[in-house]
Amino acid sequence: MADQKQSGGTGSDTKKNTVDPELLEIFACPKYKSNLGIADDGSSLICRACQSKYPVEEGIPLMLIDKAIPLCQEDL
Ligand SMILES: [Zn+2]
Repeated sequence: MADQKQSGGTGSDTKKNTVDPELLEIFACPKYKSNLGIADDGSSLICRACQSKYPVEEGIPLMLIDKAIPLCQEDL
């Protein structure tokens, strides 16, 4: 395996696609204004009121009803 050299890398800032728990206090479900939880992998916020999850992109939750993904039974 050839290692890929990153030119001009100032430290390794791997973009974490996870949400800051503090944001949970700011963001709420756009539909029910209810509290949210974080998915196990941290990549989405879960609303149990409407049983949907909202994706997080670059640490920013997309709290749009359009973006809501219905939860599977395994997620609950
Ligand atoms: Zn909701």
